[in-house]
Amino acid sequence: MKALRSSLSSVVYHGTRLLDRKQKGTRMLCYHRVNDSEKNYLTVSTRHFRDQMKFLFNEGYQTISLSSLLAGEGNGRNIVITFDDGFRDNFECAYPILKEFGFRATIFCVADRMNTEGYLTRQDIQEMRASGFEFGSHTISHPHLLRLKADKKWQEIFGSKKMLEDLTQNRVDFFCYPYGEYDKESVALVKKVGYLGACSNNPGANDGKMDHYLLKRTEVSPDDSLNDFKKKMAGAFDLLHRGLHWVRRRP
Ligand SMILES: [Zn+2]
Repeated sequence: MKALRSSLSSVVYHGTRLLDRKQKGTRMLCYHRVNDSEKNYLTVSTRHFRDQMKFLFNEGYQTISLSSLLAGEGNGRNIVITFDDGFRDNFECAYPILKEFGFRATIFCVADRMNTEGYLTRQDIQEMRASGFEFGSHTISHPHLLRLKADKKWQEIFGSKKMLEDLTQNRVDFFCYPYGEYDKESVALVKKVGYLGACSNNPGANDGKMDHYLLKRTEVSPDDSLNDFKKKMAGAFDLLHRGLHWVRRRP
């Protein structure tokens, strides 16, 4: 499977380069954890993360906020970096590396877990906010939204906004669907309770026609070599990921 994935993406990658298709839209990266003490499918090592940020920096990429993206300020040389769940290593390990390159990120917090062991503290959030980081909601308890009744969905989507606004002492304008799962009802609720936009895990870049409530992201995996990362940035994995999501019947 890994070999197939690699060769398929190579064909697309070299094809794209051959055609010299300029990348349209702004890519948004999705990370969870960055550290060197854990090895699992959510954790990218600090070495890999630093190499990836260095590559982006050397290529002339600049990070922009979600607000700027939605205001149409993004272009092919901009990038949005996101972290899901709000793990403490985002502050301890990723933040220093991001700062080194003058990058900022958007962190989607699971409201109930904040200020608990392994997750961001109020102080971490304050410090990162002062450096231009954004904080969004990733629900209260990270449920599978599709399995919840409407009132529970509302509580997770709206309740988390209020909790995180209390914690960050700031407006929380963005939402991110846990597991990348959404249905019509969840999307409608996210709009209704006042979020300005929401991230999915649908692959691709975000161009002028982007759906503000189903923004596309590119997931970075711990197994990605720097070459894989470059291919992902060029969109070479998008088709493959769309196919995989379809096979898993997952949006
Ligand atoms: Zn999550």
